[in-house]
Amino acid sequence: QFVNPEQPGYVGFANLPNQVHRKSVKKGFEFTLMVVGESGLGKSTLVNSLFLTDLYPERLIPTAAEKINKTVKIETSSVEIEERGVKLRLAVVDTPGFADAIDNKDCFNAILSYIDEQFERYLHDESGLNRRNIVDNRVHCCFYFVNPAGHGLKPLDIKFMKAIHNKVNVVPVIAKADTLTKREVEKLKKKIMDEIADNGIQIYTLPDCDSDEDEDYKEQCRQLKGAIPFAVVGSNAVIEVKGRKVRGRMYPWGVVEVENPEHCDFIKLRTMLITHMQDLQEVTQEIHYENFRSDKLANGGGGGERTQRKSKYRNKLDSVDKEEKLSEKDRQLQEKEAELRRMQDMIAKMQAQMAKPAPAPAPTQPQQNGAPPAGKGLRSDAIVTREQCKQMKSGSHQQTL
Ligand code: GDP
Repeated sequence: QFVNPEQPGYVGFANLPNQVHRKSVKKGFEFTLMVVGESGLGKSTLVNSLFLTDLYPERLIPTAAEKINKTVKIETSSVEIEERGVKLRLAVVDTPGFADAIDNKDCFNAILSYIDEQFERYLHDESGLNRRNIVDNRVHCCFYFVNPAGHGLKPLDIKFMKAIHNKVNVVPVIAKADTLTKREVEKLKKKIMDEIADNGIQIYTLPDCDSDEDEDYKEQCRQLKGAIPFAVVGSNAVIEVKGRKVRGRMYPWGVVEVENPEHCDFIKLRTMLITHMQDLQEVTQEIHYENFRSDKLANGGGGGERTQRKSKYRNKLDSVDKEEKLSEKDRQLQEKEAELRRMQDMIAKMQAQMAKPAPAPAPTQPQQNGAPPAGKGLRSDAIVTREQCKQMKSGSHQQTL
């Protein structure tokens, strides 16, 4: 609608957020989630439950014998989800084989390299020519699955989280929380948080609410912060409970409802992920990626690449410069040549005039070799030879150059 001039004081910039909204919706959103943890902790089930999709339709689970020689693999599955016209391109990075081997000392190297590679790729794309259509494959969040039967964190959990906490937003998750009683969940949560603090691990913290935020939102944030590490249950089965269809796990003694906040923190984890998706991306961009970038520049890695790019650019500029200088010299040479040609013409005219026969012939001396008589006709010093002309040219060029 056009601005109504009868509305005094209305300019129309109140509409700006709608423009941003429209543009973002049109463009769609992209998010990369990584899931790490021992196999069998329910990672795949949880991811499928979170986004109500089947991300691993053809999954093959290796046998124990196969696992002995297997290293950690990185598997990326992408899915485009649409909800009320809003598109989300979700990439889930799975890490099968993590903690599966007999010696797990180096089992997370492949994961670290993958995270770095994505940063590297982004850095490269960002310094490339087409910066508009960069696909962001950086890992925005990592759900780290803790074994519910482990009496807290294991040395591998601590080592892994310490290795990645400066590269990615780590969200610890207690897997298969239905195997623990309410009291056990509370105890385990406290133990994990204490160990995280004692070992200086920096997990993702939700942003503080602004004072002008509404009370419901503040309460939601408070509850989400209090629920970390999220104790979750995953299931892809829909069960009918008292006439209601719920996603849950059916046991002989009852049904665990995945989306019931009384049963587990699944809904809190999903709320945290969805409502803070933008913040997770911002922290990735402003902290983790910036760390990577500045490290690269400081160590000369990224700097080298940039210098290389810069010097390539410089070379190009230099050659353009050279070409310009050359054409300037050519222009001056051409001018000088034109001047010389004019001079030659003038000389030729003068010669022609001088060569005209004298009106009254005086007594002559015998001519030698057909040369004109001295003082009459063309004087030998007036003739500009081709040689002289060349010399003049080169002399004048030297002057010019
Ligand atoms: P992944 O190897 O970590 O991806 O684990 P899966 O998702 O394949 O799950 C391994 C097994 O655990 C499957 O039999 C699942 O049905 C089961 N499972 C998944 N989530 C849960 C859960 O929350 N609680 C319980 N008790 N079992 C689960």
